[in-house]
Amino acid sequence: MTTVYEIEHLYQADGWLSPGYVEVGGDGIIVRVSSEYTGDHNAVRLAGFGVPGLQNLHSHAFQRALVGRTEFVGHGRAEDNLWNWREEMYRLVDRLTPDDVEAIAALVYLEMLQFGTTTLCEFQYLHHQPGGGFYENPAEMSERLIATAERIGLRLTLLPVLYGHGGIGVPPQGAQLRFVHSVDDYLTLVQTLRLRCSSRPWLRIGLALHSLRAVTPDEALTAVESMNTMDADANIHIHVSETVKEVADVENALGARPVEWLLDNVDLNHKWCLVHATHLDASELAKAAKSGAVVGLCPLTEAMLGDGLFQLVEYHDAHGSWGIGTDSQCSTSIAEELRVLECGKRLELRRRNVIARSVDGQKAHSGRILFDSALAGGARASGQGAVALAPGEFADLVLLDPHCNTLLGHGPETVLDAWILGGTHNPVRDVMVAGRWIIHDGRHAEEAAIRANYRTVIERVA
Ligand SMILES: [Zn+2]
Repeated sequence: MTTVYEIEHLYQADGWLSPGYVEVGGDGIIVRVSSEYTGDHNAVRLAGFGVPGLQNLHSHAFQRALVGRTEFVGHGRAEDNLWNWREEMYRLVDRLTPDDVEAIAALVYLEMLQFGTTTLCEFQYLHHQPGGGFYENPAEMSERLIATAERIGLRLTLLPVLYGHGGIGVPPQGAQLRFVHSVDDYLTLVQTLRLRCSSRPWLRIGLALHSLRAVTPDEALTAVESMNTMDADANIHIHVSETVKEVADVENALGARPVEWLLDNVDLNHKWCLVHATHLDASELAKAAKSGAVVGLCPLTEAMLGDGLFQLVEYHDAHGSWGIGTDSQCSTSIAEELRVLECGKRLELRRRNVIARSVDGQKAHSGRILFDSALAGGARASGQGAVALAPGEFADLVLLDPHCNTLLGHGPETVLDAWILGGTHNPVRDVMVAGRWIIHDGRHAEEAAIRANYRTVIERVA
C-alpha cells in the first residue's frame, strides 16, 4: 500500500516543485516524485516546505550532561581551554551507568529529530565499567545507543571507537580506562555490532579511531585493514587536528602532521570523515579536499572549546566535501551549527555571504549552499540517508512550517536562508523517517517520559 503526499513546496536538487507529489511505499521507500499526480486515491495534502532530513555526522550523546555546567574559570586557573574541559568530561564519565547514558541519549536524539535531523553518526567511546572492566555484554553501551535510536526513530550510523592510550606514549588512566580496548577486543566488538544490522535497514556500523593521540600507527593500520576486509564500504571516522597542541604532539612523535600522516599511510577516500580538521596547512587542505574525505565540522563545540576556525572558504572552493556534527551537544540543531559556521567566517574575513559563489549571473543563496553541502557531506560520512527526496531512497522528510515566525512571508527562493541564517524560532513541524511520522506538530509521542527520565538522571549525575 502506497501513500501519496501533496506537499505545497517540495525541495529537489534542481529547484522546488510547487506543489510536489511524493509517493511512499509501505516499506518506507519513495516510489515516485512528480509535479503532477494522476493516481486513483486521494493525496494527503501538507502545507509548507518539504526538504530531505538532515544529517548529523558527529555526536557524543552523553556529553549533553555537561552543557552549561563548564562555563566558569575555577579557582587558581588563569585561563580555560579544551584540556581543562576534558577533565570535567572525565569526572562525568566516571559516574555514568548504561541506564544514564540511555536516558541522556534519548533526550539528545529527540531534540535532533525536532530540529530536522533524521540520520546521526554517533562516535561511541564510552564502552566499559568504571575501572575498565568489561560489562557482562561487552557491547552493552553501544547496544543501549542502538536501542535508543530505534525507540526514538532516528537513523543511526554507530561508530564504536578504538582508544588505546591516554596520549602519545602515555598509558590510559582514571576515566580513560572506560574507553580502552586492545585491537583484537575492539574488532570483536565491531563484529558483534555488525550482526545487529542485518534486520535493521536504518542501522550501519562503521569504524572510528579516537585520534592519533589515543591510537598508535600500528593499531590504526591494523584496525583499518581488518575493517576493510569485514566491510569494504564501512565508514571510518577520526578526530584530527583539533588543536595546535595535538598537531605539534603528533608531528613530534610521528614526524608528520596528523592529516599529512593519514595521507601518507592510509587510502584516504570518500569513506573517511576527518572530524574537526581545524588546523591544516595548505598542502594538507588541498590533498584532503581532493581525496574525497569528508571534513566533519562541529562549529559550536569548536567555538565553545576555543579550538579555532576551519578554513572553510578555501576548502569549499577546492571542492572539498564537508558536513556538520553537534559533537558535545551545546546545540542539537544543524541549522544553528550552520549559522555559527557562516557567521564565524564573516567575522574573521569581514565579508558577507562568504561561501556563496554566483554562477552564470544567478543569485547564489548562502542558506541553500550550506544546506546542500551539509546534506551531501553528511550522507557520505554516514553511508546512509539521502541527499534528495527521490525514487529508491527512504522517505526521510522534514516539513517546515510557513506559519512559524522564522518563515513568515518567505517563499521557496529564500526559505533556506531564513531557516539557517534568519530567525530563531524552529520551523520544523513534522518529521518522517522511512515513511513513518516520528515528529508531529513538533512533538514526539514519548517526549514527556523522555524529559522526565532525563531530568531524574541529570540531577543525580551532573
Ligand atoms: Zn568528538
